[in-house]
Amino acid sequence: MNMNMNVNKEYEVVIIGGGPAGLTAGLYTSRARLNSLLIEKGLVGGQIVTAELVDNYPGFPEGISGFELGQLMHQQARKYGLKDVIAEATGIELREGQKKIKTTEGNFIAKAVIIASGSERRKLGIPGEEKFTGKGVSYCATCDAAFFREVPVAVVGGGDTAITEALHLAKFASKVMVIHRRDQLRATRILQEKAFAEPKIEFLWNTVVEDIEGGDIVQRIRLRQVKTGEKSTLDISGGFISVGLKPNTDYLKSILSLDITGLIITDGKMETEIPGIFAAGDIRHNSARQAITAAGDGATAAIYAEKFISE
Ligand code: NAP
Repeated sequence: MNMNMNVNKEYEVVIIGGGPAGLTAGLYTSRARLNSLLIEKGLVGGQIVTAELVDNYPGFPEGISGFELGQLMHQQARKYGLKDVIAEATGIELREGQKKIKTTEGNFIAKAVIIASGSERRKLGIPGEEKFTGKGVSYCATCDAAFFREVPVAVVGGGDTAITEALHLAKFASKVMVIHRRDQLRATRILQEKAFAEPKIEFLWNTVVEDIEGGDIVQRIRLRQVKTGEKSTLDISGGFISVGLKPNTDYLKSILSLDITGLIITDGKMETEIPGIFAAGDIRHNSARQAITAAGDGATAAIYAEKFISE
């Protein structure tokens, strides 16, 4: 990443977000010899950097760590001239046929914009969640599992992330309790099979967490069985919350119409209702939310951004 100094202010394409969608878009626009800037607020790679092993990205039959995959994508895009800056996008304005991208590091001007700012972990919004974040409550098992050796932990959620995280935690914790609000997992079958076969993983079905309690660190959670209303407590040392993703689109509300979940509606060219503004990856309505589909969206958006600019 650049140190945010000497960064030009005008580009043909500005890409917001450095996950698989943004990095692939940057690879394609740079190879099309379009002067391109990628804006990323943190580490490049996006959500995937927290995946210990990505084993469904074609071309890596043994799997690859999410961090390494992100680094390789970045390296490849930079090889063709993609510039990048560490900044957070705060808005987009239309200005005389051009787009002004407002960021925490100043404004940038572009002919076309590709929005690929992805999503962040959704919170449960229950008492104790905020207080104990970093003190036993975590949103990233890959980052924090090693702190929970030989102690009981809980994972809340029933999707791919929850089950992937439960499997990872089982390597460290004494027991992993998966707490799911229904009696069927949403996660893909292969992950379910692995989790059901792992002796350290147990399931609490039709159950929600109502409260997280402790002293300096988490000690227990209060649970409610949704069918019977029965209440109980579970002693844990760590609580991992994996209840889905929230799109990073708050900064776009004034310029784009979003669906009720905050996702951006595009056409098949990944173009939004505003000509020259494209969206790619998790942030897009109807996205399959996989690294490979995000990369595909990024390539499509870049190809049509190039056409938009040349026309
Ligand atoms: P997700 O698929 O949206 O699943 C969220 C889970 O949390 C669901 O089981 C949901 O329950 C539960 N949930 C939501 N709100 C809740 C609440 N307030 N209280 C309790 N439980 C709640 O999210 P994800 O697992 O983070 O996955 C996001 C996307 O990334 C998915 O498209 C997924 O396929 C993809 N992904 C893929 C992989 C992989 O391919 N290996 C790995 C990780 C993520 P319900 O089931 O009842 O709705």
